[in-house]
Order: sequence, then C-alpha cells, then structure tokens
Amino acid sequence: MSVAKKNIERVRKAVPRGIARKLWVKSGGRCQYTDCNKPLWKDELMQRDMNKAYISHIIAAKDDGPRGEKVLSEKLELSFDNLLLLCDECHNRIDKAQLNGHPKQILIKMKKDHELRIELLTGLQEEKKSHLLFYTCKIGAFLPTITFKEASAAIIPEYFPVSDNPIEIGMGFNTISDDMDDFWIFQNQQLEEAFNQKVRPLLDKGVNHFSVFGIAPQPLLIKLGTLLSELAVAEIYQSHREPKQTWKWQNDMYNIDVKLLEPQAIKTKVALIISLSDKVNYERIHKVLGADVSIWEITVPEPNRNILKNKETLEKFKNQVRNAFSNIRKIYGQDSEIHLFPVMPNSCAIEAGRVWMPKVDLPLIIYDQNNNRNGFYKALTI
Ligand SMILES: [Zn+2]
Ligand SMILES: [Zn+2]
Repeated sequence: MSVAKKNIERVRKAVPRGIARKLWVKSGGRCQYTDCNKPLWKDELMQRDMNKAYISHIIAAKDDGPRGEKVLSEKLELSFDNLLLLCDECHNRIDKAQLNGHPKQILIKMKKDHELRIELLTGLQEEKKSHLLFYTCKIGAFLPTITFKEASAAIIPEYFPVSDNPIEIGMGFNTISDDMDDFWIFQNQQLEEAFNQKVRPLLDKGVNHFSVFGIAPQPLLIKLGTLLSELAVAEIYQSHREPKQTWKWQNDMYNIDVKLLEPQAIKTKVALIISLSDKVNYERIHKVLGADVSIWEITVPEPNRNILKNKETLEKFKNQVRNAFSNIRKIYGQDSEIHLFPVMPNSCAIEAGRVWMPKVDLPLIIYDQNNNRNGFYKALTI
C-alpha cells in the first residue's frame, strides 16, 4: 500500500470501553446470532482463546465493507445500535461466508430480539421474580416428577424463575408405601424438615414469591399448604391432563359453581368432604366415623379429574374452604375437630392447607383413600 493511499484512508476506530461494556451487558455476554447464544464471557473470564468474542458491525465501519454505506458507515461506526457481540463462527458467517444472506434488517432484528430476551431474563423487576418450589412424594407405586422446563413454561410471562435450580422438598424414592401408618409419620416429618431447611429461611428473609408445583398424596399437600400459609405470597399451579399435559392454566371461560353443603342436624362429630375429583358416598364416611356425625361437603355439579381449569375456580374453592372452616368453628365450638376427607385436584389440596389458620381454625384429622386399605383411613392430624 502506498504512503499516499494510507493517508486518505480513514483509520478504523477502536470501540470505546463504555460502549463495549454496554454491549457485553445487554447481550448477557452471549453471541447475539439467532439461536447461537454461545456464552462468550466464560472464555473471557478464563482468558482462553476458544469462542473468541467479536464486536461486529451491522453496517461496516468502512463503506466498502460488509453492508457498508456511504454516509452511515462513518456515522454509525461507534454507535451501540450498530454493534453486535458475536462468536467467531457467527462473525465469519455474517461478514464473509454468508454475507449475502445477512442484510442489515435481519441483523438489526437479531440484535433487538436478543437484547429483549436477556432483559426479560436478567433485568427483571423484583415483582416478576419467582422461586420455583417442587414437592413430590410417591403415590402408591408411582413416583411423580416435575421438570424445570414444564414449570417455567407455566409461569412465564406472568413470572420468571429466579434460577434454573428449583427448590425441591420431596424426597424421591423410599421404601415405605402409603398404605402403611409409618409412611405418614415419616413423610410428614421429612416434609417439615425439608421445608424448614429450604423454604423457611427464604420466608424469613422476606422473599415474596413462590410458584408451587405439587404431586403427592393429598394429606401431605394439605400439610404443605399449612406450612406455606397465606403469609407466603405464592401461586399454586395445577397439572392438567387435557387437552394436553401441561401446568399452564387453561384460560377458558369454564365457569364452575363450587358449593358448600351444610348438614341438617348437629351431631357429635363433624366431617368435611371435599369432593371435586370424584363423588363421595356418605356411607364411606359413616363406615369410618359411625352414625353420630354431621357431614359437610364442598363439591361441584359434576366432580371429575379435570375439573380445575382456571384460577377463578381455584379462588372460588378457597372461599368455600374458608367458609366451611369458620362456619364449623362457630357451630361446633373451639373444642371440636374436623374429620377431613379430601378428593380433589392437587392445587386445591395445597390451597385448602394455606387457608387453614393455626390457633384459629379447628384441628384437622385428614383421611386418605387407599384401595389397599379398603377406603378412607386416618393419615395425618394437623
Ligand atoms: Zn466487523
Ligand atoms: Zn455465535
């Protein structure tokens, strides 16, 4: 190159540190090429040469460069909006290998989309962050699982998970089965301990949002609800089987009347049936508690396993549980107790527990229905 030529050529300027830093932050330190997302900060941190990061120009710094334009090249040379953080491979793709497939409109959109996504995931307002809380416990021989992927899909975009590491308070495999009395003592204790270790410290710190996913025998879900109580700000999710398997609320207009049926006569004992998933014949209650029992019932017109499709129905249900607890307390007095027979969706069981107020509401004796034990039997007392 001649001396004369060199003198008239504009020297490409280095990107100032402030702008480079802004690009690293806004891109989350990841390659901004659609679906590449390669983390570039890791190598930066380790001082390694792999995945080299490039600050690339959408409109080249020189007008004869990739996507270069007469006036704009010089004008936008150091403009943040004109810069992309890219990995080695993607930089080469847009500037050389597939230059023609990458007009500026495509790259501008790519940058915008990437920066918006990073903003959503990292720059969230506090009130949109939520801790994922999973509780699973085996039901019969079945050990349920909940994945981060399905849980986060259920809460986004109303909430965003604080991390991809959910709080799990279930204990996974164990050898005691739920038709044995020891099962309840053991699981109850394990649930309390796991809750106190993993959730209580967050509540004490004032963490204010949990997204709760539970699949477990109903007495334990009710117990979990009492531990969370309504002091914890939490959204309880439901696993839906139809029309497809999902934890996302089905946003239909499915309007269900949740009723509280009060008994005619006041007897010595009080039972409360919650029959949302299936009908419960009162004979099954008398079989356990004898004839001297008043039976209250929270139910819906046609109980079935897919009854709960939206949050509105769950809210109606909670109100009826509140009504039941307080009416029973008023009628039967502070010294009585409620024999609770739950046949309901998992999220309802957790909410029923949250509604129950310690020291105010009556003690709950919770039954579980078990085919091996030939019907309802006493599982937990709260
Ligand atoms: Zn470039
Ligand atoms: Zn890339």
